[in-house]
Formats: sequence, structure tokens, C-alpha cells
Amino acid sequence: MEIKVTKTTTPKTKPDASALGFGKYFTDHMFVMDYSDEKGWYDARIVPYGPFEIEPACTTLHYGQAIFEGLKAYKGANGEIFLYRPERNMARINQSNDRLCIPQIDEAFAVEAIKQLVLLDQDWIPEGEGTSLYIRPFIFGTDNMLGVHPSHTYKFVVILSPVGSYYKDGLAPVKIWVEDDYVRAVRGGMGFAKTAGNYAASLKAQAVSSEKGYSQVLWLDGVERKYIEEVGAMNIFFKIGDEVVTPELNGSILAGITRDSVLKVLTAYGYNASERKVSIDEIVEAYKEGKLEEVFGTGTAAVISPVGELCFRGEKMIINNNEIGKVSQFLYDTITGIQKGTVEDKFGFTYRIK
Ligand SMILES: *Cc1c(COP(=O)(O)O)cnc(C)c1O
Repeated sequence: MEIKVTKTTTPKTKPDASALGFGKYFTDHMFVMDYSDEKGWYDARIVPYGPFEIEPACTTLHYGQAIFEGLKAYKGANGEIFLYRPERNMARINQSNDRLCIPQIDEAFAVEAIKQLVLLDQDWIPEGEGTSLYIRPFIFGTDNMLGVHPSHTYKFVVILSPVGSYYKDGLAPVKIWVEDDYVRAVRGGMGFAKTAGNYAASLKAQAVSSEKGYSQVLWLDGVERKYIEEVGAMNIFFKIGDEVVTPELNGSILAGITRDSVLKVLTAYGYNASERKVSIDEIVEAYKEGKLEEVFGTGTAAVISPVGELCFRGEKMIINNNEIGKVSQFLYDTITGIQKGTVEDKFGFTYRIK
């Protein structure tokens, strides 16, 4: 399929690099294609960034048939431009699509569309330490009809947002609330899909924990509220003695690409990395025995997010003296180095587009 390009005639002023934050600014262009049962995916185009007209009866506004992805483009030291494992994000789109009865996309074509869009807006990729161009592909149903059924028409859209360093003062540890009342997902539900509804389900606990001074929520399994799942926009790892462990994928956890990268890097560098069930009791026990050496989250936005405090049922566990651990720092340096082309990529993670 060919991608028709219509360039903007009114380019925007780029924001100051220090003011970027996360997801506040959008570049000059976006990619759009449409789907209908008769035509399949059609009319692939890059057009000026701008609003869509939505009818009040648009199915997504009522029933949430919407999925998304998040990945980044980075500028290298010599003007190269890298994506990071984009084929994994596109494969995950199709897993999410399948769960939400959205038609499959052509993964290779979607990577090509992202490449063309990023190259067109490449002047928007910020260059400062820790900055990048965040890429947000998403799909939503566009039928105008209140009956509950899978939509017959969809839009696939990619927008780009220059984002600042996640860490203003280095890798600052975060405080996390272990949630044992609300749950995010259950097995058989949509936990493994990157879909809007999972985020809607997470907001209440997030708001309650935020009032208590915690920045994120650690979810427990939806049935026994005993086994650790993830942080909702991040997967979670624990260093217990010599083992670096993350909860195994069970259908209600999102299979993070950063999670997968961390497991591969740890194994390649001789660490004892494992995926298995981890109960909150095991973590409390390890903490009491002085064996809980590091805790960190993993996700595209922050890459590695050290955890300085976990609070479970009113009991505060201070991790590694509220400082960044050695393994967390090693992983952050290695993965961000691979992303920007300054650390040798033994894994084939980088995808150079310029
Ligand atoms: C996106 C996401 C993650 C992190 O996945 P990455 O591919 O590493 O960015 C973790 N949990 C949830 C619920 C997510 O939506």
C-alpha cells in the first residue's frame, strides 16, 4: 500500500527542550489509515496533525474498543535515528487487536509507516540527555451505532510527541503503594492487551494512593490478591539475594518490551534472572530478612524506574536506603546506551532508520 503525503503549510514552533515533559506537544504530521469490512485497511496517508470529526454515536466513546502502543525514536551522536524493537510493538498491536475483535494490521507495513512519519518530522526529535520522540500508534472503532458488537470500521493513527527526560535529577527512586483493594485485571480479561479500558480501571486506585503520597500502584492478582502483577504502566522486578525476578506472564500482565529486554540483558551479562510467581508475602519476608536488595519498574517511558519505598497494608519497606541500586543503574545505562547507539547492541534491538 502506498502512503500519500500531504505536508503542512503551517509548521508549528517547536517547544523549548526544557519544557517538554511527557505527551504535551505534538509534531506537525500524523499517519492515518482507515478500515472497512469491504476494503480492509485502505487510504494510508500522512497528513498535518489535527482533530477528527467524531459522531456522538461513535462506538468507541461508549464501549471502549480501543488499543494503543508506545515506543520511541532516538537521535544518535552522529545524526543517526533509531527506533527500538518496533516490530515487537506492532506484533503486540495484533495481540491486543485479537482480544478486542479489531482486525489485524500488516506489522511490517505499520513499521514502514512509522519510519516515514518519523523521518518527515525528524527535526522534532529532541537531542538532550534522556529525551526522545515518543511514538503513539492507536486504533479505535468508528461505527456510529449503539448496538454492542465489534465495529465494522476503524482508524489506525500514529502521532508523535517530543518528550523530556523522565528524570530531572538522575534516576530518582519512586514510592509505590501495594494495592490490595482495587484490582486492574483478571485472567481471562484484557490485562495482557494494551487497551484504553485497563487504564480507566486503574485511575481510582492511582488517585487514592496519590493522596497518600505515592506516585504509582503495584497491582496484585485479581483473584487471591496475593501474587504480584505489575505497576500498570510498568512491569516490576525484585532483586532478592542473587536472583533478579519478575512475575511470570499469566494473561493479566502486560508483556512489556522493556521487561523482555531486561531479562535478555541480565541473562547475557551473567545475572540470575527469572520469571515466576512472586507473592507479596515473599517480598515482605525477603525485606525482613534483609534480602530485598533492589526493586525497579520497567517500561518505555522511564526505561528503568528504581523503587525507593513499597507500602503494603500500612507497612513501609524502604529499599536500598532509598537509593538507586547497582543492577538498576547498570540496566538503565546499558539499555539507554543501546537505544542511542553508544553501547554495543548484541541483541538486535536497535532499528536504524537514518
Ligand atoms: C505499556 C505497558 C507496560 C510497559 O511495556 P513496555 O513495552 O516495556 O513499554 C507495562 N504495563 C502496562 C499495563 C502497559 O500498558
